[in-house]
Amino acid sequence: MNNNLFSILKTNFPDDLTTTFLQTRSGRHISYADMLARSAQYASALRALGVGPGDRVAVQVQKSTEALMLYLGAIRAGAAFLPLNTAYTSAEVSYFLGDAEPRVVVCSPSKAGDISNIAGEARVETLGDDGTSGSLLERVDAAPTAFEELPCEADDLAAILYTSGTTGRAKGAMMTHLNLSSNAEALAVTWAFTAEDRLLHALPIYHTHGLFTATNTVLQAGASMIFLPRFDAEEVLERLPQATLMMGVPTFYSRLLACEGLTRDLVKHMRVFISGSAPLSPDIHREFELRTGYAILERYGMTETGMITSNPYDGARRAGTVGFPLPGIEIRIVGAESGEKLGSGEVGDIEVRGPNVFKGYWQMPDKTAEDFREDGFFVTGDLGMIDEQGYLNIVGRDKDLIISGGFNVYPAEIEAAIDELPAVAESAVIGVPHPDFGEGVMAVIACKTGETLDEEAVIASLSDTLARFKQPKRVAFVDALPRNAMGKIQKNELRERYAATFKDPSG
Ligand code: AMP
Repeated sequence: MNNNLFSILKTNFPDDLTTTFLQTRSGRHISYADMLARSAQYASALRALGVGPGDRVAVQVQKSTEALMLYLGAIRAGAAFLPLNTAYTSAEVSYFLGDAEPRVVVCSPSKAGDISNIAGEARVETLGDDGTSGSLLERVDAAPTAFEELPCEADDLAAILYTSGTTGRAKGAMMTHLNLSSNAEALAVTWAFTAEDRLLHALPIYHTHGLFTATNTVLQAGASMIFLPRFDAEEVLERLPQATLMMGVPTFYSRLLACEGLTRDLVKHMRVFISGSAPLSPDIHREFELRTGYAILERYGMTETGMITSNPYDGARRAGTVGFPLPGIEIRIVGAESGEKLGSGEVGDIEVRGPNVFKGYWQMPDKTAEDFREDGFFVTGDLGMIDEQGYLNIVGRDKDLIISGGFNVYPAEIEAAIDELPAVAESAVIGVPHPDFGEGVMAVIACKTGETLDEEAVIASLSDTLARFKQPKRVAFVDALPRNAMGKIQKNELRERYAATFKDPSG
């Protein structure tokens, strides 16, 4: 059997290949037959450029249908697909290219000059931002429309995704064909996908969420998607009536809630709304349910593991939790110091084992060894707790943990208490250097439009709910918290911004 991800997905494609696979923003329909032919052309073109099994194909282009075909072509050709965030500067890309040593780099025509200077031995090809121009397209147009997937072992490399990492150098997570196929299979079952489904796809495709969770699951189910270049709330509202489900980061949902057009009537035909990549605040969960009648289904995963847990499709989707492990995946909570497995209700490191867990970090055997236990569990770096009903609750990142005066402070707990204040839109709690306590707890708050709060009021409001050592010693107010494209709050940026807050010992 060929374990090539595409060969596995292909077994689920509809019998009638004229069925739509993808609708573009401009309304063009791309059928399964079109996708098979076009991705075959990409695979052939890559082979003709000398790409062999395991060779890296680095890609930094805007989201487009052609970019998606390039991904599928690379998989079919047995290459390791290496997507790069379009926001990375040449200096950043230079590190990735030096580290991954790709055979081919595909970039926007406007970047070809810069990339050629840093590409080393790699061959540089271009693909225009709208997917209608570039040197690669000329090769692809001329290539044959049939291609036999390269035979792959389950453990062969299918992709390398660099993780943003909050400290140190970015690490290339090596994803195998089995990692990706097993996750697509688990998600299609868990979320009850059928061939009738149409996913509204507004996520970027340089990240695991939009590339694998969304696209591979659609292919696994022989379903279809509406492929939008980016998230625009008004456009999404316009398109929702043609979709049956949506996947998004929490910011998608808060932005939709800000639109009057989001009504019960507009979405009444939808099957499910899914959220992940960053914590969905219980407030947004509640507000969305009130407005639309839908409880957003929150799930949890990361680049290195794909999706790990999900709230149930049938059953209570509990706000503030990320649900149960997916089929075939085990999780456990382990005490940071003791290394012992903890019981329900106790906070510790979240560890995961299963066919979804990556092969290791590219050319970093020591770092890989550090992050795996002897029995094969991967240490996620997230802190969590499994509650009485078995739902996983994420309490924060290991690195976010604040140690103030010797006490452990989990930011998520304090953020949840602050978010209860009616004037608060969102909050981030960080630790910054403190002369007495090592780290001092500090809250950064964005108020709802038209609302204000002051520092004393916030601190006073927490005095009954939180132990003194957990209460923020300082509160700063901002218009909005800094977030990246995946909706993750950039706590590093906040820690830098407020690093001097307690410099004055009286502070
Ligand atoms: P990435 O590798 O960019 O996908 O980031 C993965 C990290 O995002 C995880 O390790 C978590 O810290 C965070 N994350 C993903 N999904 C959730 C969620 N539903 N709730 C809280 N944090 C999440």
